[in-house]
Amino acid sequence: MTTVTPVEGTERALRWAALLDRARLLARRFEERSEKAYASGEFVGENIRELIDAGITAINVPADLGGFEATLEENTRLLRIIAGGCGSTAFTLAIHAVLTGSMRSDLSVAVRERMFGAVRDGAFVVGPFTDEGSGGNWVRPSTTARRVPDGFVLDGLKHFATGYDAATHLVVTAGLDDAHLEPPFNLAAFFVEKPEEGIEVVAPWSGFALPMTGSHSLKLAGLRVDADDSVFPDGLTPLFVMARQQWGHYCFAAVFLGLAERAYELAVERTRGRATTAVSDLARLPGIQFAVARMRSSIATMDALLTEYATRHVDPGEDLPAFVADTCVPKYHITNEAEHVVATAFEVIGGSGIRDGSRIGQIWRDVKAGPLLPFTNDMAREFIGKATLGISPVETPRWV
Ligand SMILES: Cc1cc2nc3c(=O)[nH]c(=O)nc-3n(C[C@H](O)[C@H](O)[C@H](O)COP(=O)(O)OP(=O)(O)OC[C@H]3O[C@@H](n4cnc5c(N)ncnc54)[C@H](O)[C@@H]3O)c2cc1C
Repeated sequence: MTTVTPVEGTERALRWAALLDRARLLARRFEERSEKAYASGEFVGENIRELIDAGITAINVPADLGGFEATLEENTRLLRIIAGGCGSTAFTLAIHAVLTGSMRSDLSVAVRERMFGAVRDGAFVVGPFTDEGSGGNWVRPSTTARRVPDGFVLDGLKHFATGYDAATHLVVTAGLDDAHLEPPFNLAAFFVEKPEEGIEVVAPWSGFALPMTGSHSLKLAGLRVDADDSVFPDGLTPLFVMARQQWGHYCFAAVFLGLAERAYELAVERTRGRATTAVSDLARLPGIQFAVARMRSSIATMDALLTEYATRHVDPGEDLPAFVADTCVPKYHITNEAEHVVATAFEVIGGSGIRDGSRIGQIWRDVKAGPLLPFTNDMAREFIGKATLGISPVETPRWV
């Protein structure tokens, strides 16, 4: 009996293979650029333009709107490849991927068509959520949204607006001033074209890690948004956000796994066949071999973990807090484990890694950001621990 493969399936497989090839090619080019631009922290705008031209920023457009509708696992694959070339580009792309991938369902029809029509045509979406007063607890914003006829007026200070210079659109969060909505249920998110007024960069980004992400601080002063820009129904935004946490956790984990994978490759390349006056071949030293073995098995474990979660733990199901705890597992493990792999690679490469502009040095700096991104280590441990022990996530003692 002959098995007939559906045409869409074959076409999709071919498109996917082409996307992977293109991503690999771009990653090499981004790495060359990174070697020159990392020290100055120049924003990765040219790289983002090339990702748009390659169709990589449009992979999450839903099939019913003519798109590729990439799975979450496919997003993580591409992010790992891009991170191998440039952490800043991969993280900036990750923000866009998280927003576009997680918002394919449950949006109002108007926002959905506007968002994905724009993304199909080359839009780049960024998400300034973190507020001056909220830190990583951005479901409790300090930016306010005051109701006015037909819309809202936003005021506040946002930090870490990754990719702002390349943005054509923003998903921006704020707290509604309605008396009946207690935090965090006053959280609201708005999808807007990058505004020309009411928002300005007040502190340009200059980061120790991921320095080329352009994660500026933004002042929102009387920023006007329409009622139709509201992404989720009033009062329900935190629940919708929780049900999408898998996108943030797995895509962020992918970036840091991609960095670790590149560090490992660099360590192997630098060591194999390298001789000194004392040692004919560094690769023959047991210490080097053991380090390579440790890195390789650690990467294989992270790969298996992320693949498992990004394919089998993507549906929130009935128990939302348990699901969120689940999604913390790969993010927590991988962002911390990636640091160990990169540190080992650094040691294997040796003193040359300390030299200004070394690629392993850039990766060592970038990988430090992983555990600081939401959910931070403390929050991830709390969610996982409480869920495992059958304790509600809002039960005291806790921090918030
Ligand atoms: C390079 C980079 C790019 C970023 N890009 C974006 C972006 O595009 N959009 C965006 O919105 N944000 C972005 N962020 C911000 C990020 O999402 C987090 O909000 C931020 O890193 C954490 O906030 P904070 O550093 O202010 O720490 P805080 O939230 O002030 O936390 C400080 C410490 O207190 C602990 N802590 C705080 N609250 C709790 C709690 N409730 N329970 C347990 N422990 C707690 C934390 O674990 C941490 O150790 C970016 C961050 C970085 C580093």
